[in-house]
Amino acid sequence: MAERLLDVTGLTTTFRTGKKTSVTAVNNVTFSLDRGEILGLVGESGCGKSVTSLSIMGLFEDTAGKVASGSIVFDGEDLTKLTTKQMRSIRGKRISMIFQNPMSSLNSCMRVEAQLIEAIRLHNDVSKSEARQRASKMLSAVGIPDPEQTLRSYPHQLSGGMSQRVMIAMALCCEPEMMIADEPTTALDVTIQAQILELMKDIRSRNNTSILLITHDLGVVAEMCSRALVMYAGRIVEEASVEELFASPIHPYTVGLIASVPKLGSGVTSLPSIPGSVPDLSAMPQGCKFAPRCKYAQAVCRQTEPELAPVPGGNGRKCRCHLFGKEEGKEAQA
Ligand code: SF4
Repeated sequence: MAERLLDVTGLTTTFRTGKKTSVTAVNNVTFSLDRGEILGLVGESGCGKSVTSLSIMGLFEDTAGKVASGSIVFDGEDLTKLTTKQMRSIRGKRISMIFQNPMSSLNSCMRVEAQLIEAIRLHNDVSKSEARQRASKMLSAVGIPDPEQTLRSYPHQLSGGMSQRVMIAMALCCEPEMMIADEPTTALDVTIQAQILELMKDIRSRNNTSILLITHDLGVVAEMCSRALVMYAGRIVEEASVEELFASPIHPYTVGLIASVPKLGSGVTSLPSIPGSVPDLSAMPQGCKFAPRCKYAQAVCRQTEPELAPVPGGNGRKCRCHLFGKEEGKEAQA
């Protein structure tokens, strides 16, 4: 039976916008992650995916953001209750993060060697030479053909794919139980993207690492994940196994997202898109947040926000839509 590693319950994250004003970027988000699982978190830019990951990592120090309520229980410990010092000892060691752009995450003034050694020694009581050996092994493990040469390089001397591998090596150097990968392949070309995704799958199988994969790319979700959460306007609107999500999406937003993915050999020359854009955090519509873009919106949708409700017989599947389960809902999905 799968062992639970992370339980996020009712997570609400806000950003201060003025002396007495704030906006809610993540609203009452609940999900879990098992050991060795790859869970996808999908949605358009600005839907709250990255803020969810920053909340888990506790990366709001000295910013206007804060976890306003909810719990983030990692291996039995609520991360929201930890001090800054305690959180620093978990971050990088037990939970690590891979960002979209390695060039902005690696220090351009330091050789790769110095950055990896620093990351290793921050959490492990090892000598500099032991840390260097470990760094070299880690670079080999992520498929870098000449680790010694790479260790001596500055980030700007590496290609995009190599830099991303260095980032992954850095994220793995303390053998974390969980990795958060935020759009890890968006900046890469398709061949390198495929190699990096393969590498992440390999790491998961070798180390039983849990991965929270944040992406707007449904192709990446289909390739990598067993389960996915669809986010919209800071809320989860659908949760399902990846098979179910692609075979029979329920929420009108998910239906729109999947319809906009090109299919090989379909002969279709133009793809449908979802009209409108994600609502402004400071001007959220009343009721269902997707209503202004939803062709099935009814009066009730504009007045009352639907709950994220379990789908009967859905094996853990959930959906946030008033029409779901009613005859109109079935028509809506047809
Ligand atoms: Fe559309 Fe209404 Fe469902 Fe929202 S609740 S997604 S507006 S049908």
